[in-house]
Amino acid sequence: MSQLRENAVSDDVAPAGAFTPPGATVPGTRVGAVLDGLIPAGDPATAWQRRRADYRLVSPLNRGKFTVVVVGTGLAGSGVAAALGELGYRVHAVTYHDAPRRAHSVAAQGGINAARARADDGDSLVRFVKDTVKGGDFRSREAEAFRLGQESVRVIDHMNALGAPFAREYGGTLATRSFGGVQVSRTYYTRGQTGQQLQIAGSQALLRQVQRGTVTLHSRSEMLDLIVDDGGARGVVIRSLVTGEISAIPAHAVVLATGGYGSVYFHSTLALNCNASASWRAVQRGAYLAHASFVQFHPTALPVSSHWQSKTILMSESLRNDGRIWVPATPGDDRPAAAIPEAERDYYLERKYPAFGNLTPRDIASRAATEQINTGHGVGPLHNSVYLDFADALDAKGRDVIAERYGNLFTMYRHATGEDPYQVPMRIAPGAHFTMGGLWSDFNLMTAIPGLFVGGEAGWSYHGANRLGANSLLSACVDGWFTLPLAVPDYLAGMLGSPVPGPDSAPVTAALDRARARTAALLEVGGTTGPVEFHRRLGEIMYRGCGVARSRESLTAAITEIRELRTEFWRDLAVPGSGAQVNQTLEKAGRVADFLELAELMCVDALDREESCGAHFRTEHQDAGEARRDDAHWTFASAWGIEGDTFVRHAEPLHFQTIPMAVRSYK
Ligand SMILES: Cc1cc2nc3c(=O)[nH]c(=O)nc-3n(C[C@H](O)[C@H](O)[C@H](O)COP(=O)(O)OP(=O)(O)OC[C@H]3O[C@@H](n4cnc5c(N)ncnc54)[C@H](O)[C@@H]3O)c2cc1C
Repeated sequence: MSQLRENAVSDDVAPAGAFTPPGATVPGTRVGAVLDGLIPAGDPATAWQRRRADYRLVSPLNRGKFTVVVVGTGLAGSGVAAALGELGYRVHAVTYHDAPRRAHSVAAQGGINAARARADDGDSLVRFVKDTVKGGDFRSREAEAFRLGQESVRVIDHMNALGAPFAREYGGTLATRSFGGVQVSRTYYTRGQTGQQLQIAGSQALLRQVQRGTVTLHSRSEMLDLIVDDGGARGVVIRSLVTGEISAIPAHAVVLATGGYGSVYFHSTLALNCNASASWRAVQRGAYLAHASFVQFHPTALPVSSHWQSKTILMSESLRNDGRIWVPATPGDDRPAAAIPEAERDYYLERKYPAFGNLTPRDIASRAATEQINTGHGVGPLHNSVYLDFADALDAKGRDVIAERYGNLFTMYRHATGEDPYQVPMRIAPGAHFTMGGLWSDFNLMTAIPGLFVGGEAGWSYHGANRLGANSLLSACVDGWFTLPLAVPDYLAGMLGSPVPGPDSAPVTAALDRARARTAALLEVGGTTGPVEFHRRLGEIMYRGCGVARSRESLTAAITEIRELRTEFWRDLAVPGSGAQVNQTLEKAGRVADFLELAELMCVDALDREESCGAHFRTEHQDAGEARRDDAHWTFASAWGIEGDTFVRHAEPLHFQTIPMAVRSYK
C-alpha cells in the first residue's frame, strides 16, 4: 500500500476519517486495514475533473519506453489498449479468445446509458447519479457515479465516431429507451445488439493499433499468473492455448479487464468460458476482492429446463419496457396462459411497485419472481418461471412496432424454447448474471498492488449492491477509454528509467515456476471426474446457499459443502491429454479450481455482512420482503485479502454528500 499512496495521493485527498468496522464473526476471518479510496476531498461532483487535471503526464518522447500489459479485450480492455497504443506506449493485449471481438461484451443486448438528457423527460446528471447510487443501495462510491455520468456524454459520441450504429429517430437524432430502476429514457441502443456493435467498434480500434505496431496481440493466450517485483505488478505469465507454451510478458504496469465471475454459478447468462482466474490470481498475490458476494440475478433469464443444460440465456431487460410480468393468482394453476382470465392473473410487480411497475430494478424484480415461484405460482413444466407477456403491447402498438424493437430477441427466444412469443408469453426466471463485486481499486482504478489496474466488470466501484441496467457497458467504456488512459500514465510517470524485470530475473522465474507447477498439478490428479461436473455441483451449492436470498444457515452449509467439493476435486479430477497441446479440459480444470476457492470467499462475505442491501438479501434482515440495510455498521466496502488460511476484511468507508441516504423505495 505504501507505494500506492506515494504514487496516487494528491494534496486534496480526503482523510479516511474516524471509522471502526464491525468485528469479524465468521470463523477463519479477521479485520484488516481501513482503506483510503483516494477520492479528492470536497464536492464529489467535481472530484473527477480535479483529479484529471492533477494527473502527471508522460512526454510523447518517453512513452515508447514503457510497456503495459492489458489482459482482456472486451469493451474495457480494447479501449485502454487502443488508447494507450494511440498515445505511443508499448502495449501487449492478451485474450483467451481467438479474436478480440469475441470478448463477452458482444453478448450485451439492451443498451448503454448516458446522462445526455436529450429527451424532455426530466433527466440530468444529478438524476443519473441519484438513480445509480440509489439503485446500488448506497454501497458504491458517489464520486464514481459522477465520473460515470460525466464521461457518459463523451462515450456515446466516441463510440459513434468509432462506428457503433446507434438507433436513431426518424429525424436523425439518437434514439433512447428506458431500463429498470429509472423513470427516464437514457439508454442508447443498437436494436438488441448493443454490446456486439460497441465491441466491434472497440476491437476494430484495437486492431488498428495492432497494425500500426503499437499493440502486440496475444490471442488464444490465457493469463495464469502475475509477476510481482518488490511489491509492484511487473507483467504476467501466459499459456498459449494452442501449443501449451508457458511464457512471461514483463511490463511496467498491468491492467486486468477480464470481465465478471457470475459463471461461478455454472448456470449463468455469461459465456461458458468466462472465469475469475486472473482476478483470483491477483488476490492471491496481494490484491483485494471487494463486495465479493454482490451478484446480480437477472430477472429475465430463461429458466433452467434440464439438469444437463450448460447455461442459461438472457432475454434483454429492454423487453420490460413493453412486456408485462405475471403469474396465475392461484398456486399450482396449470392451465395454459391464454386460458387464465385477467381476473385470475397477478401482475405482481405492477401491484407491489406501482410507481416503477415492470421496470423495478433487477434485484427487486428477481426477488419478487423467486417469491412467486417459491409460493407455488411458478409456471412452465418445472414451475420455475413467470410470464413476460406482450399481448397488450401487440394489441396497442402492433406487431411491426414490437418486431422492430425486439425482433431479434423474439427470434432468439423461439430458437431457444420452440415457442413463439408473438403467440404465447415468454417464460423467464432469475439467473446469475453480473458481479457488482470485483477487484478493489482506488479512485485511479489501481488495486492494492501498485501498478496493477482494473477496468470493466472485473472492478467494483460503480454499482454498489445492485447494478442498474445499461450501466455496465458504460462503466467498461468509461474505464477503458477515459479513465485508465490517464491513470496508468500517471503511475508510469514516476517510473521513468526503471527497467522491466529481465527474463531470467527472480520475479519472472518464480511466476513461471508457479504457473508450470499448477498446470502439472491439475494434470497429475488422475481421477475419474471431469471439471465440468465439479463446476455443475458448485453451481448447485451456490444457487442454494448464496443465491437470490441467503441466510446464516444456507451460507454456513454452503461453505462446508464447497470445502468438501474442493477436497474431492483435488482427489478425483480427471484431465486427459497433456499440457503441450490444445487441451480444453485442462483450461476448464484451472478455472474451476479457482472458482472453488472464490466461491468460499463469496459465501464468507455474504455471511459476514449482517444486513440486506440491493442484491445481497439476507433473510434475517428484511422488512416484509424488502431489504433492511444497517447503515450504522455497514456503510463501507468489504475488500477481502488472503493471508495464509485467513480471509482478511479490509474496509473502505463510503460517504454520500449530494445524494442523502434513504430507504430505497420503488412503490
Ligand atoms: C447476456 C448479457 C447481456 C448484457 N447486456 C447488457 C446491456 O444491455 N447493457 C449493459 O450495460 N451491460 C450488459 N451486460 C453486462 C456487460 O455486457 C458486461 O458487464 C461488460 O460487457 C463487460 O465488459 P468487460 O470489458 O469488463 O469484460 P468482457 O467483455 O467480459 O471481456 C473480458 C475479456 O477478458 C479476457 N480474459 C478473461 N480472463 C482472461 C485470462 N485469464 N487470460 C486472458 N484473457 C482473459 C477475455 O478473453 C475477454 O477478452 C450484459 C451481460 C450479459 C452476460
